[in-house]
Amino acid sequence: MEKEPDINKVVRQHADMDDFFTGGFAPAGEKNKQKKNEASQSANDIKIELEKINDEVHRCRKCQLGSLRTNAVPGEGNPNAQIVFVGEGPGADEDAQGRPFVGRAGQLLDKVIAAMGLKRSDIFICNILKCRPPNNRDPRPEEIISCLPYLQRQIELINPDVIVALGAHAARTLLNTNKPIGQLRGQFHQYYAGLGRPSIKLMATYHTAYLLRNYSQENRRRLWEDMKKVLTELGLPIPQRKQ
Ligand code: URA
Repeated sequence: MEKEPDINKVVRQHADMDDFFTGGFAPAGEKNKQKKNEASQSANDIKIELEKINDEVHRCRKCQLGSLRTNAVPGEGNPNAQIVFVGEGPGADEDAQGRPFVGRAGQLLDKVIAAMGLKRSDIFICNILKCRPPNNRDPRPEEIISCLPYLQRQIELINPDVIVALGAHAARTLLNTNKPIGQLRGQFHQYYAGLGRPSIKLMATYHTAYLLRNYSQENRRRLWEDMKKVLTELGLPIPQRKQ
């Protein structure tokens, strides 16, 4: 009897081939130049589509978190960002303000972004979950399943050169794996954006909240090493750090 095809494998093979034959072999910087030429014309269209997603998120009641939130937190940033940072879900500060990464973990993320020679307005920041889980508990599978299509659509519209997954929940969800963050971080993986679309490079790294809880020079160095790989992939200069 013929074996059932492994659908995940088929999707991956298709995306790999597509990536290769449609220019996935070009350096990210080149791809980016091309993209930026088309950018000004499409930036407005992308912004409009992102705003539509924001409206849906603000009205969303697909899971119980919708009735527990103060504000939904769809995400924000540059519609033509080269980098999309993806965290886990809003905390208390984000829930209060309706903006991603504005609490302590966000302030540390701001420092990481500045150390990369970038501004918040250069990038896009969002989360796996758009509403705060009570007491910042871990996201539940059914919440992730309800919420993920919003993030998938955001990524599809922005089409960044690199996704940075902050922490285990973001990395595991986007890579569809259960591997620990210690195994995933520090290397590029492929985020499969769907049939017919080239895959996007994904760097998994520590969540800044984890770094705050487990601060050591070694952990800080690891996160910085990961971000240097992202800058190199994008053909951007690596700012020299004060010793
Ligand atoms: N932690 C997250 O994962 N996301 C935020 O927006 C803030 C803290």
